[in-house]
Amino acid sequence: MALTPTRRLLSRLRALMAAGTAQLADIVALVAGELVAEVCSAYGLRGGEILELRATHGLNPGAVGRTRLRVGEGIIGLVAATGQVLNLADAQNHPAFAYRPETGEEPYASMLAVPVRRAGRTLGVLAVQNRASRRYTDDEVEVLETVAMLVTDSLASSTSDEAPEKGFFGTVQRHFEAAALSPGIVFGPALLHGARRAPRRLLADQPDLELTRLEAALASMRKDLDALIRDQLPDGEAPRDVMDATRRVAADPGWLRRVTAAVRGGLSAEAAVHRVASDVRGRMRQIVDPYLRERLADLEDLADRLLLALDGDETPLIEASGTILIARRLGPAQLLEWHARGIAGVAIEEGSAGGHAAILARALGLPAVGGARGAVEAASTSDGVVLDGDEGALILRPESALRDAYQRAADSRAIRVAARALLRDAPSITRDGTRFRLFMNAGLPQEMPQLEATGAEGIGLFRTEIAMMARGAVPDVAEQAAIYARVLDEAGGRPVIFRTLDLGSDKLLPDHTAPREENPAMGWRSLRVGLDRPAVLRRQLRALLLGAAGRPLSVMFPMVATLGEFRQAKALLVTEAGRIPRPPETLAVGTMLEVPALLWQIPALMAECDFISIGSNDLVQFIFAADRGTPSLAERYDLLSPPMLSLLEEVSREAAATGMSLSLCGEAAARPLDAAVLLALGICQLSMSASSLLGVKESLRALDLNAFRPFLEGLRRSAAAYGSLREPIAAWARDHGMPQ
Ligand code: PEP
Ligand code: MG
Repeated sequence: MALTPTRRLLSRLRALMAAGTAQLADIVALVAGELVAEVCSAYGLRGGEILELRATHGLNPGAVGRTRLRVGEGIIGLVAATGQVLNLADAQNHPAFAYRPETGEEPYASMLAVPVRRAGRTLGVLAVQNRASRRYTDDEVEVLETVAMLVTDSLASSTSDEAPEKGFFGTVQRHFEAAALSPGIVFGPALLHGARRAPRRLLADQPDLELTRLEAALASMRKDLDALIRDQLPDGEAPRDVMDATRRVAADPGWLRRVTAAVRGGLSAEAAVHRVASDVRGRMRQIVDPYLRERLADLEDLADRLLLALDGDETPLIEASGTILIARRLGPAQLLEWHARGIAGVAIEEGSAGGHAAILARALGLPAVGGARGAVEAASTSDGVVLDGDEGALILRPESALRDAYQRAADSRAIRVAARALLRDAPSITRDGTRFRLFMNAGLPQEMPQLEATGAEGIGLFRTEIAMMARGAVPDVAEQAAIYARVLDEAGGRPVIFRTLDLGSDKLLPDHTAPREENPAMGWRSLRVGLDRPAVLRRQLRALLLGAAGRPLSVMFPMVATLGEFRQAKALLVTEAGRIPRPPETLAVGTMLEVPALLWQIPALMAECDFISIGSNDLVQFIFAADRGTPSLAERYDLLSPPMLSLLEEVSREAAATGMSLSLCGEAAARPLDAAVLLALGICQLSMSASSLLGVKESLRALDLNAFRPFLEGLRRSAAAYGSLREPIAAWARDHGMPQ
């Protein structure tokens, strides 16, 4: 059987690589010969911004290492910037063409340039050129794209061996302003989220064998998918279209055809899937339409599952310990996985302080920043990184002077933290003698020692879904009961408020396959799921009661929108409590105040519940109709603004009138200025992440409420006060010696 052009080239390439001495120069020479091109050149990315000619067959050899283009400059730069192939019959008249005299490329009219990518990131560009004006065939494009995949390692290693050149603008440090998501200053090598290691085996001799492996992997992936759908959506209740959509993507002939073609071309099954997945990632970056982006994301996810089915455990895990993870997006479950693998810090381009990944980072004591747009593109694995979660900055490839400055900042921070630790046993009383109570938010039993370290009065919010996300699933009653019992044991008699599962929106279990929604934050989530699928909620309530084993128990329901929902949930709890042999000594039932509709049901609610905790993260997002996870809205609306303050004052007044216990457990509690305002409004129980607690205590102990209240009232009455009051409050705090 005659070899296809791809297979012939690949088999020669394999022979070359098997010798173990293949240089980039040998590879480009081979490609030029096989594709009958006069020129074949490889450009590699340096410092995330500059493309450098690394090897060429046909252009002036003296240009290697000298010819450089910015990303976006010239045809090569354009391919790198867009991740798209350019196939040009008349390259020199293309508007992007950039003339580089040292290359001697004047005689070449046509050019085919393809990006060299790994995990959706561009590492360089591979290009062939011919004198004759011609468009390259689809087969030729396919061949060059396949070669581009095979040269990723050669191209990457040809960069990393070189010491960065000082003063060369492509490799100098990059500074990103970012949002401070979780405090701490850390250093470490960069690790890019989603950077899967390339498959060990790229080429294969026997395509039929590879196709059989592919078929088997596809069958096992489909089986897993079916099981996932069946287990997640029991009783055949799942809307058919969702199940069909998922299966349709899995069976989509388009991408399967491309994978099969790549295998027939000589790639191993995993290399073929890898290549198609990497194309998908590249294309995803171009797409703005959210619906199409989602569909491509589905495909990418399926490709990942397929790779797993093919590779099994063969693909080694990337060493993560001590690294700074850089991600475009990151869900809380993924963050937990990375944390378990020992990362030192995390930068999330599309992360904001109110998002759950950020909340989790704070709970885990993991320094984090968000919104550093462009960081993923600019970073390369193993680049040195400084992450400043205090001020909000991410610095790639820091100069040594800057690194030293950050080291000093980290040292003085450590001294400050040690000094604050002395406040642990200091009374929680403002300067003028008002008592306040500080509690800790937690989500993992491992966080419990922080109670002792911070001197918190108890756990004001235990997010039970976080412990489930850490396990990857909701465990059975006995296992859950063991978790809750451990939490109560470690609390040593301090009160703990357990919030029932608040899954959905951005808090998903890894195998989540529930229906996709346009607005998941306002969708079928949290208690709504619990009431519609009472079996899961009842199991959790039983586990809580068993875990308490006769001790006092406080249970709180999230996302309650109506008194009816609260009643239904409470009834389930009371029923379960009546069934267990050893009911808790006391059973307190509370609700979160997160959904605005509840504001107009408070008197009736107060008659039936034992405590209320304001979830300001969700309440603020719903009051202002502003998604808490959208970084561009993070600064736009403020709790410290007249409408929110009026709302909080009203709730506080109603609670005081009935003697109802009222606390606030959203992120606002962790901000000293917000905490001061809450105290002024009469909300004196605050629950926050352990890392913020002593800082808030230090500030509130320095607060003179007698002086602050009239100032705040004046500010709220002033005609100009329609937006955020943060600035004038901060100025007041500065003038009155209150640390912020
Ligand atoms: C809140 O919404 O303020 C809250 C505490 O709950 P979560 O952040 O877990 O949604
Ligand atoms: Mg909430």
